[in-house]
Amino acid sequence: MLESYSRCWTEIDYAAIAHNVEEIQKLVGDTKIMGIVKANAYGHGDVECAKALQKVGVDFFGVSSVDEALHLRQNGIHDSILILGYTPPEHFHYLIEENIIQSLVSYDYAQKLDAYAKEAGTKIRCHCKVDTGMCRTGVIYQVQEKNMDQILAEYRMEHLIVEGIFSHFPVSDDLGQESAAFTKKQIELFEEVCDNLRKEGINPGIRHIQNSYGILNYGDLKMDYCRPGLLYMGVTSDDAIPIASKPDFIPILSWYANVSLVKWIQKGQSVSYGRHFIATKPTKVATVSVGYADGLHRLVSNCGLEVLIHGQKCPIIGNVCMDQCMVDVTQVDDVKEGDVVVLVGRQGDHRVTIDEISRKSHSINNETLSDIAGRVPRLRRREK
Ligand SMILES: *Cc1c(COP(=O)(O)O)cnc(C)c1O
Repeated sequence: MLESYSRCWTEIDYAAIAHNVEEIQKLVGDTKIMGIVKANAYGHGDVECAKALQKVGVDFFGVSSVDEALHLRQNGIHDSILILGYTPPEHFHYLIEENIIQSLVSYDYAQKLDAYAKEAGTKIRCHCKVDTGMCRTGVIYQVQEKNMDQILAEYRMEHLIVEGIFSHFPVSDDLGQESAAFTKKQIELFEEVCDNLRKEGINPGIRHIQNSYGILNYGDLKMDYCRPGLLYMGVTSDDAIPIASKPDFIPILSWYANVSLVKWIQKGQSVSYGRHFIATKPTKVATVSVGYADGLHRLVSNCGLEVLIHGQKCPIIGNVCMDQCMVDVTQVDDVKEGDVVVLVGRQGDHRVTIDEISRKSHSINNETLSDIAGRVPRLRRREK
């Protein structure tokens, strides 16, 4: 990887994670943080984010799969790691070898894992997943169906060490009445499960339920851990969604590309595939070296998405290509080959956000960030 220059690159301010963690801590009080670093920390670099989180006391990490857990281990992260998703039986041995915690995705799955651990002559660390309304993974414990017996049985499996219990919110981002009632019911069901366990003389272990919006809208649940991803990266899914708290997060990612060419075109000339932009007057066009194969969705073609050049907002015109796109720079003086274009971040007095890209591509920041392609270098932001 090149050190400082490419056709298109991101810069990540890992130091700002400390500030974002402080903001999270203000909302959740004594609840500890499990840093979610799945999907390469949504493209921000899993190991780098984990190390920045460690510096401010985070001692627990969540990933989606065993290969992500191994990547952390191979890079010197020795803290507790929880796999939030499914690990196929042929990879169970890694859980033992690398001391990784597995979520129990179902009761049947727990039985398989228990049998495997017995065979291996050891015990495997787990967290019990309770499905209080997401209908994704976990033992169902909802108004319509309460499988407390399965949860109890999981805790009693001889070769599993069930150290924690968790659930997940599907609508904690929505403060509307119906969604709020749904989320409150989930919290109630989750507490009920923990109480039922205690009544049976079982310690539920570490309890956690809040993702980023759970933290923003339901910060005071007094769980043992919360599970932020987006928030320590300094963004929400969509800035237009109202939230209950007023945090002050710093987005840690900026995204840049270079101008490769500047030219004037005349009225009637068209730009890019499909000829969706046709100049109505003489127009100065900059060709910029970022495209959809870098993660700039083709949906932002010709819809007025603005980037910064020389600190001024300029719209993308015509279709976004695989490796390039075109920008109207008629209003900007002296634009030339090699100039830096800001897709996300600050330049001069202006700021463009990942949120604008997400909105124009009918998506959310979670997806837009994790779609920034692997070929785009992630550079560590230095003090400026
Ligand atoms: C991805 C994920 C999170 C983190 O979600 P954010 O909205 O980024 O905070 C938390 N918990 C689970 C189970 C997840 O899958």
